[in-house]
Formats: sequence, structure tokens, C-alpha cells
Amino acid sequence: METITTVKEMQRRSEQLRREGKKIAFVPTMGYLHEGHLSLMREGRKRGNILLISIFVNPTQFGPGEDYDRYPRDMKRDLALVQGVGVDICFNPSAQEMYPDGFQTAVEVEGVTKNLCGISRPGHFRGVTTVVAKLFNIVKPHLAFFGQKDYQQLIAIKRMVEDLDMDIELIGMPTIRETDGLAMSSRNAYLDPEQRKEATSLYRALLKGKELYHQGERSTAVILNHVRGIIEEGKSAAIDYAKICDAHTLEDIEEIKGEAVIAVAVKIGKTRLIDNIILKEE
Ligand code: AMP
Repeated sequence: METITTVKEMQRRSEQLRREGKKIAFVPTMGYLHEGHLSLMREGRKRGNILLISIFVNPTQFGPGEDYDRYPRDMKRDLALVQGVGVDICFNPSAQEMYPDGFQTAVEVEGVTKNLCGISRPGHFRGVTTVVAKLFNIVKPHLAFFGQKDYQQLIAIKRMVEDLDMDIELIGMPTIRETDGLAMSSRNAYLDPEQRKEATSLYRALLKGKELYHQGERSTAVILNHVRGIIEEGKSAAIDYAKICDAHTLEDIEEIKGEAVIAVAVKIGKTRLIDNIILKEE
């Protein structure tokens, strides 16, 4: 596996691969990899000739007081894991390489980033779409893989690709969970054993919401009452939001008509976890 750390070298390598007619499959990550990341990579391995990943903890998507400094990092472990899934190239730039002195441009998707994490993490999606646009310009992928675990991020990136005519096929991938339902996340490493148990409430709550929906309930207030109730049973759980939104616009809805998403963000102690589930008629 090759590791590349500079923008120029990565661009040169990708250009060369494109000229050779290779199909570049790209999985951007912030590292501290788990099965969720690896599932995206395995799909990339199947669908492209070259599997390229990035490991970059992007400072601009963290707000002041968030966990940028203590975000878990373990490059040695990550490199061992990615070799196991057949990654060809790992792009691993420094923050200075990505944001040299004088950097002053941003890509901002408007509507779909307003609600949910857009309220609690101002500037977060601007950081995400800017870094993903940069990575796309550096890596020049044909295909790019993103997890539905970060549902609002996936929708925002889809919007950006469409609005800015980026010639890239995006593939959304299902959320990979621990056996007790907790969505895999690098941040799960922050949880102590007690909190780890409590963290299962997010998925239990989402499943309850989905069950009510399939029993015919269409009032979001009724469903969300149950969802909140389950999460609030945990003694260190504090709900940031629990909402039901239109699955495409991500606007709040009162009554579920088309496809919808239940999205939750919950602080367990100091650790902020997110999860979601799609509601649609089967
Ligand atoms: P991150 O390293 O957290 O920025 O995540 C990198 C990519 O992996 C993003 O597209 C995430 O949505 C995706 N991802 C993270 N956790 C999971 C999971 N549990 N299942 C599937 N994809 C995931």
C-alpha cells in the first residue's frame, strides 16, 4: 500500500491512474477505523480498480470546545486494518498541507444543513463540505462512499455534488452496528462501561419509533414521545435533539406522509452520539 501525504503528489498519482483508465473508488475517513469504515472500503474494493482512502481529522469541522484535540487517533492500527481490506493508496495529509497560510475559501450547502446538527454544531457542515470538495479535487475519484450513519452529511454532500456538477458517483452505505445495536463510531471509544450500556438506548428508541410507524402511527409528536422516553431512561443521557424530518429536505414535519427520517443526537456524559433510521412504507 502506498501512503501519500502531499496534495501535489496525490493529484499527480490520481491523474496518472485516470490516464491508465483505472476507476478510482474513494472512502474519506477521519481514522480510528472500525467495521463501519471497513464496510465502505470493501464495497469500494468491489466497485473500483483502485481503492483509495483518506485519513484526515479535519479541524474545520470541529467547533470551539469540541473534541478535535482529543479525537482518537491510531495510525499504526489503522494502516494494519486497511491492508486487510486491500486498500491501494492512503492519503494522509497534515492540517497545514490542507489549510496552508492564506486559505480563505469555503463550500457551503444551505437548506439541508440548517436543521439537526446544523443547529447544535454551527459551521460543522461548512467544514465538512469544504474538506470533501478539496479531497475530491485532490483524489479525483470516480466513485465515493459515505455512510448513512451520518445521514445529514450524506444528504449535504449529495446536494453539493449535484449543485456544483461534480462528476462523481456517490454511494450511500448502510449503518454498521455492534451486536447490541449501537452504531459503530470512533467516538464510542470515549464511553466508559456504564455509558456504553446506556448508549444502546439510541437504537432501541429508533426501533420503537419505526415499530409505531409500521403500526400506522403518523403523528411525529406521538412517535417522538416514545423515542425520547426510551433515551431519557438513561441517567447520563441528555438529548440534544430527537426529530422526525422529511428524508430529502430534512425539514421538521408534523405528520409523516412520504419518506421520513428519525434522527437523534444524544450526549452520554461528555460524548455526543448520533443515529438515525429511515421510515418508509414497505
Ligand atoms: P468518519 O471517520 O467518522 O468521518 O467516517 C468516515 C465515513 O465512514 C463516513 O462516510 C461515515 O458516514 C462512515 N461511517 C462512520 N460510521 C459508520 C457506521 N457505523 N456504518 C457505516 N458507515 C459509517
